[in-house]
Amino acid sequence: MNISEASNATSVLSDLPSIDYLLRTDAIRRLTPSFGIAQMTAIAQDEVDSLRRAITDRPSEFAGRSPDFLLDEAVLLIEMACKTKVRTAIKRVINATGVIIHTNLGRAPLSANARKAMFDAAGYVNVEYDLDVGARGRRGRRAEELAAELCGAESAAIVNNGAAAAFLVLTVFATGGEVVISRGELVEIGGDFRVPDVLEQSGAKLREVGTTNRTKLADYENAIGEGTRMILRVHPSNYRIVGFTATPSVASLADLAHKHGVIIYEDVGSGAVIDLGKYGLGDEPVVSQSLRDGVDIVTFSGDKLLGGPQSGIIVGRLDLIERIRKHPLYRAMRVDKLVYAALEATLGAYSRGTAESEVPALKMISASLNGLRARAERFAEALRQGSGLTVETLPGTSVIGGGAAPDVKLETTLVSLRVSDGTAESILAKLRSSTPPVIARVEDDRVLIDLRTVAEDEAAELHKILVYLYP
Ligand SMILES: *Cc1c(COP(=O)(O)O)cnc(C)c1O
Repeated sequence: MNISEASNATSVLSDLPSIDYLLRTDAIRRLTPSFGIAQMTAIAQDEVDSLRRAITDRPSEFAGRSPDFLLDEAVLLIEMACKTKVRTAIKRVINATGVIIHTNLGRAPLSANARKAMFDAAGYVNVEYDLDVGARGRRGRRAEELAAELCGAESAAIVNNGAAAAFLVLTVFATGGEVVISRGELVEIGGDFRVPDVLEQSGAKLREVGTTNRTKLADYENAIGEGTRMILRVHPSNYRIVGFTATPSVASLADLAHKHGVIIYEDVGSGAVIDLGKYGLGDEPVVSQSLRDGVDIVTFSGDKLLGGPQSGIIVGRLDLIERIRKHPLYRAMRVDKLVYAALEATLGAYSRGTAESEVPALKMISASLNGLRARAERFAEALRQGSGLTVETLPGTSVIGGGAAPDVKLETTLVSLRVSDGTAESILAKLRSSTPPVIARVEDDRVLIDLRTVAEDEAAELHKILVYLYP
């Protein structure tokens, strides 16, 4: 900058409002209770600093600006900073994407019973206290018993997530030894869970057998030696090889493992606790079937197809589960009382036989096309009457998500939204900034709403939001 610009910038800088003055303006005083005075002071300091940098960096832009202009500018920056803080805080959203287990949106939505259980468990609870004897009890015992019962397992242990469960099982049983796995199962799931990396971290040695598309029982057998501790089977979840493929049955692998005195462990990923074949999810291994086939330990996620809170469920032989519970890593991976409470309620629905009507993820998977079409038509008609949107219905598909059943496309009826004076992206952005935010998808420059993932009461809310935004 030249000399006159520099002196100009200096004089503008000296007109910047003081933090004290800013905090006393009406606009900032209104915002202060939500953040507290300490945080608000810090925000104001940050924003005045950035305004100061802008003036120094681009003096011509600010030349001759009045103190009032700078004050307004500072207030605006502070308001925007507060808004960003509010927007990044976790809040309820309406998932209109039709992706049932949407990892970015918190995977499985919990049942009403699970929500209530979490709410009740938020205070003091008997999570690790035996009410009969009045002394310490086994932590989360009822949830574990339910998990074991449902899967037909001798015992169960619960940890933070599916990845933790896999890591724990490998660490407890295979550290320092070899784990035999098919090359077709050395997969990456969702970007941050890679089977070979988890194996390496656990201190187990990977012994790959077969090829990416075909692995035979003999391949496994030839690889078993002195150092072998385990045969590992991993459900490839979001990855499929179709065509010329072969893999031995779980039962034959289990027999092989036991013949050689090694453990067989299966990471089924999503884990269907009940058979979901009638909804097209026949490729998802059913946990109880794996155990019946002779698998010693099975692990799966609590917040995928099960429809519960984030957790990793380990089921299998009693002696092995006991060893897991005694390992120091188990203590480090243990779940919170809120998770036990939600899981207990979710598993309880399966146990009562009401999961398909009670657990939202299952309810969404099992929703009929006729029912969805009727809901979409009603929703569309009400919007045509009440809003300025161009509304149509069209056939489409919903997806399971969460890495489960990638080829399953559930037929649905979509509601498409358009405006005459805006793009689909502009509608999407408005929906995202509504209260609660609505997440939808765009195709061919129209916004698509899939009511499969929108509960009845949320659909009423969504209708109100759309009518308000596009009268
Ligand atoms: C999803 C998945 C995991 C990881 O489970 P998280 O609960 O997400 O930690 C591990 N293995 C398989 C096969 C999976 O599909």
